[in-house]
Amino acid sequence: MGEFQNLRVDGQRLWDSIMAIGEIGPGEHGGSCRLALTDADRDGRDLFIRWCEEIGCSITIDDMGNIFARREGRNNELAPIVAGSHLDTQPHGGKFDGIYGVLAALEAVRTLHDNNVTTQAPVEIVVWTNEEGSRFAPAMISSGVYAGLFEKDYAWSITDSDGKRQGDELKRIGYMGELPCGSNPIGALLEAHIEQGPILEADNHQIGVVIGGQGQRWYDVTIKGQDSHAGSTPMRGRRDALVASAEIITMVQALALEFAPQAVSTVGEMVVKPNSRNTIPGEVCFTVDIRNPEEQVLAKMNEQLNARIAAIVGKHGVECELKEIWDKAPVKFDPDCIAAVAAATNLLGYSNQQMVSGAGHDACQICLVAPTSMIFVPCAGGLSHNEQESAEAADLEAGCNVLLHAMLTLANKSDA
Ligand SMILES: [Zn+2]
Repeated sequence: MGEFQNLRVDGQRLWDSIMAIGEIGPGEHGGSCRLALTDADRDGRDLFIRWCEEIGCSITIDDMGNIFARREGRNNELAPIVAGSHLDTQPHGGKFDGIYGVLAALEAVRTLHDNNVTTQAPVEIVVWTNEEGSRFAPAMISSGVYAGLFEKDYAWSITDSDGKRQGDELKRIGYMGELPCGSNPIGALLEAHIEQGPILEADNHQIGVVIGGQGQRWYDVTIKGQDSHAGSTPMRGRRDALVASAEIITMVQALALEFAPQAVSTVGEMVVKPNSRNTIPGEVCFTVDIRNPEEQVLAKMNEQLNARIAAIVGKHGVECELKEIWDKAPVKFDPDCIAAVAAATNLLGYSNQQMVSGAGHDACQICLVAPTSMIFVPCAGGLSHNEQESAEAADLEAGCNVLLHAMLTLANKSDA
């Protein structure tokens, strides 16, 4: 780090760039609406590329529309150190989710340019296509194709609600590049992002050193009892599927509290049949979502969930079908990338804490195929996916300085 330790980004230029992109596809309440592969998305990409070309970066676009803006190093045989995130937003999105990670990477590279710093390995700024998954589901599709989690033909074939194909929309806005997605090397990936949760703000820390992402399991639960008259059926002997479900829901919440502070659990959807006020509910279907950063803990939660549901179901004389529909293993970020972020944070003297990402990010896909870590900064009230989303300029600047110095460390590693 030595000779570059006084290097700092321009926080005002970073803020102005975030505001300028935010004007493209403006929301009605101060945020942005720049859905993937719309004209607004194209305009945001065009402006980003113009900025990159102004500082001499070369642009490569792959056939999922991912953009790589490259600044050459001294040894261009080395795989590039890549930083970035996404420029698309939710329909009622904020100005910071994703955009911050792209423009923090741009500001870091602008700072290298201004100071005539050439790194050993080349550095690249990446924009991943369609992180949000709002217009074309699922989310994080293009980083997923890069990481080999999705087939490209499948990604191209996904349609929006008007029946337009993702591949056709990529071509229409001029962003289907020639490079096969996933064929360009990534030496390491760093993604700066607003936290999208309340922890940093509550703990009064400026930087989150992100060590991984949570694992999650999703279930569909069906409880079968018996429909029966609400007036003439005595309380004893009822087979009430909703009462049994209520006990299960309370248990699901208690389960996460037992594995505090890392575990979370949610029942978010429920269908009651026949849903009539004077009939005892004979069937209830609901969802369960449990998450934890540790695979063993997740397995233990799963075991307890099954055992406790069986006990509750027995007590109420109902039957249960518990179907696991998704099992996503936790991800752990790369120790060297985490160390680079932690060292940069300490060098700069920012208050910080280690944390695990609650939300999914492109970095959580890329970490399967390249060394990766993330940097979190606080956002007001932990609010995101909301036009009111906001962050302090000083925190954004701090996260960007951490990104710059972590990039320098990784890009100059072979110098040491
Ligand atoms: Zn995001």
